[in-house]
Amino acid sequence: MTVSLKKLRKTFGDGTVAVNDIDLEIEHGEFITLLGPSGCGKTTTLRLIAGLEEPTSGEVYIDGRKVNDVDPGDRDIAMVFQSYALYPHMTALENMTLNLTVAGMTKEQAKEKATETARTLGLEELLDKKPGKLSGGQRQRVALGRAMVRDPVCYLMDEPLSNLDLKLRELMRTELKRIHQQQKVTTVYVTHDQAEALILSDRVTVMHKGEIQQVGNPMEVYEHPANEFVAEFIGSPSINLLKGEVRSGSILVDGVVIDKSQPAMADGSITLGIRPEDVILVTGESDGLMGKIEFTEPQGGIVHAFVKIEQDEKILKNRDHLVVSVDVHESITIGASVGIQFRSERVNYFDHESGVSLTASRL
Ligand code: ADP
Ligand code: MG
Repeated sequence: MTVSLKKLRKTFGDGTVAVNDIDLEIEHGEFITLLGPSGCGKTTTLRLIAGLEEPTSGEVYIDGRKVNDVDPGDRDIAMVFQSYALYPHMTALENMTLNLTVAGMTKEQAKEKATETARTLGLEELLDKKPGKLSGGQRQRVALGRAMVRDPVCYLMDEPLSNLDLKLRELMRTELKRIHQQQKVTTVYVTHDQAEALILSDRVTVMHKGEIQQVGNPMEVYEHPANEFVAEFIGSPSINLLKGEVRSGSILVDGVVIDKSQPAMADGSITLGIRPEDVILVTGESDGLMGKIEFTEPQGGIVHAFVKIEQDEKILKNRDHLVVSVDVHESITIGASVGIQFRSERVNYFDHESGVSLTASRL
């Protein structure tokens, strides 16, 4: 099923513009996420697709048909929420079959269907249990199963894993991905967790203040963010933003030439976006940028080094330290002076005022 949003807008009674004229084309069978900070309009967008909210203006199309006036129940869509809202007095099986029997299936048919789905989700042993006897993860599986038994042509999922602890979230993430690869049912998935979005999605839609900032596959939004907002929101630890200057096609940071290959750029101020893994620390004195490693955060295979840039404290736009990912086997010493180099081919450049990417066009 395809979903198409055209200039879709939702303003609430108090004047809040939750969704601000967004356009989005969701392709058949894709797993697309709506990613952004709390309050950016993800849930409202999902509810507009489901028909649970009426647009203030704009249109929702499902398979090319305008559905603004179609009831939620007639949209063939299954929703899965963060709070799984299972009926406590019913068993897992009854929770899963309820919608089927209401829709006219016989009890036997519904049971057969639910048992098959339960097998996919590893729930066979638990079908006789009531929600109170299930763990959080098991309950969320039942909720997922309840959506799956209906063979929907589209899933809308609103932060379905955010109530689970980290390990379980990772397991369920893998599970969701596997199910999607098997079934290829169009899925719109809402999350504020950028790592989850990158792992699950065919395409990521980054939202901010009711507007879409960028739509792209995980690699595009990570490597070629459309603006500083996307650059900072995606990736952990977040990207380093530095003040720079363009002079005759060269990029300089604090007077040091970083990149000589930007003949198309106009002279003036510029912002550089450099991911922690694209900084190289070299030992000993150098005539380039210098810094001091002030502290480190071990992450297992890698270490994040926090480097205070020596020359000019105000080079960094978004924090006090340059964050650098270093292999755990490289020796780094807290307090050491280091030379700082950048992988210039990986640097993103942004307009220093608007924050819009000047390089995303090299895609
Ligand atoms: P998200 O899911 O990204 O956290 P929401 O779509 O829930 O964001 O909300 C977007 C904005 O709309 C927020 O500012 C929120 O407070 C507001 N909002 C959401 N629902 C309502 C409502 N029923 N009435 C008034 N404002 C709302
Ligand atoms: Mg929400």
